[in-house]
Amino acid sequence: MSTELLETEVCVIGGGPAGSAFARELARRGHRVLLVERHAFPRLHVGESLTPGVWPLLEALELREAVIASGFLPATEARVRWTDDETRVARARASEPGLAVDRGRFDALLLGAAKAVGVTVLQPATASEPRRLARGWEVSVSSGDRAILVRARFLADASGRAFVLGGQKEPTSARTLALYGYWHCAPVNHAETRVEAARAAWFWGSHLPGGLFNAMAFVDPELLRQRGVRKPGLEDFYLELMAGSELLHGLKDARRMGPVIACDATSYADPEPIDDTCIKLGEAGFGIDPLSSSGVQKALQTALCGSVVVHTLLSGRGNTAAALAFYRENQRHSVEQHAAWAGGYYHEHSRYRDEAFWKRRARPATEPPTPALREELSRRPKHRVRLAEGAALIDTPCIVGEYVELRRALNHPSLARPVAYLGGVELAPLLECLGDGRTIQELLRAWTRWIPPDRGLAIAGWLHRQGLLVGG
Ligand SMILES: Cc1cc2nc3c(=O)[nH]c(=O)nc-3n(C[C@H](O)[C@H](O)[C@H](O)COP(=O)(O)OP(=O)(O)OC[C@H]3O[C@@H](n4cnc5c(N)ncnc54)[C@H](O)[C@@H]3O)c2cc1C
Repeated sequence: MSTELLETEVCVIGGGPAGSAFARELARRGHRVLLVERHAFPRLHVGESLTPGVWPLLEALELREAVIASGFLPATEARVRWTDDETRVARARASEPGLAVDRGRFDALLLGAAKAVGVTVLQPATASEPRRLARGWEVSVSSGDRAILVRARFLADASGRAFVLGGQKEPTSARTLALYGYWHCAPVNHAETRVEAARAAWFWGSHLPGGLFNAMAFVDPELLRQRGVRKPGLEDFYLELMAGSELLHGLKDARRMGPVIACDATSYADPEPIDDTCIKLGEAGFGIDPLSSSGVQKALQTALCGSVVVHTLLSGRGNTAAALAFYRENQRHSVEQHAAWAGGYYHEHSRYRDEAFWKRRARPATEPPTPALREELSRRPKHRVRLAEGAALIDTPCIVGEYVELRRALNHPSLARPVAYLGGVELAPLLECLGDGRTIQELLRAWTRWIPPDRGLAIAGWLHRQGLLVGG
């Protein structure tokens, strides 16, 4: 069999949300992009519950309307049995519910949108053995009886947990195994999500489009070893777990469909998600706890931010060192922020808090105290303010339009990362106004050169709550 040679500027491995969104954004910026996807779509994939946080990202991709028109289920309600034995019902804001999607159709929509702007797609086609060349990459691709060698200047690994490009994956949570199965049930027109804590597991379930329900259990892998559960016994073990769930057992008129699937759900991060010729996007770079149902949102975020970073690298405009630092820092921040959130959420559970499963995961949240600025203002209107000890403006990589550049940003040991913009407003000129002590009123008046008083008060309030604007 002869090998075809295909040359491109950027090769993307994987047509999940991260790969398709990244390919689309780079093609829209004028780059030549080829994407390789192993499976024919539609195909089943976990990650079906999307948080409302995906809407601004879909908007940025100009796909919001297309997603709305696809008839996925609005996730309007959640039944949560977490902190104790009481089941609480949480309702989403009607204007912006999350979504329960069929990932086969959702991913096909995103991939179609990449094709529509000129991305070449090889599908079904499997990429393997990426080899670094002196300038760029060579990737072997097999598609049916075709053998293809793709040469690219830049490589994007968006292969999810297949990690085609390899690299170290450092665990950032206790090792976790997910066991899940799909059930047929009566079709519904909105999805109800269910989340439940148990002694040595937590459960998640949701209605999906087309009369499906996905019911999952998250456990320590040791539990299966202790119980001697192997592949043939997986189904019984899953059913036993489901029978112990208040919210998932006895789904009305439900019939199981297909096999029970086990997959790793441990969180991890790759300490080297980018260099000057390759990037790891979505779950190829880091994986977060499924507890927040925000993996797809994170995958889309890495795609959007990664496309600006790679555009900066390939075009030679902007600041390439800042672009690399920006992407690394962005990932570090996402991983830390999410691990803290997940640890805090596990910590809220009380009934089994002394069980090993919960002890391994719970971390008390460390929220800063939040005094109210308005109260402080009315109590001490003449009070002079200044930046807290240790706060300073430093040069930090930021996305500015189409490129990554350096901007002055506020840094302080209490901040997870330097902050250059707050709600779209550049902080540096505002903070330079502080001079050697003004009252809050004087400061807000000075800021009206750039922003209206209510925005000024909101920004001053945020700085105050973070402990960055203090009495002088
Ligand atoms: C148990 C579990 C439950 C989850 N639940 C949720 C949830 O409810 N909500 C949520 O938002 N997230 C959830 N997630 C996370 C979510 O699934 C991922 O964050 C998301 O799918 C990542 O998108 P991605 O594009 O990075 O990777 P993927 O969606 O995994 O896409 C990778 C693509 O690469 C392709 N590929 C792999 N290898 C190759 C190869 N060699 N050649 C060519 N193509 C290849 C695959 O076929 C696939 O299409 C869950 C994760 C787990 C483990």
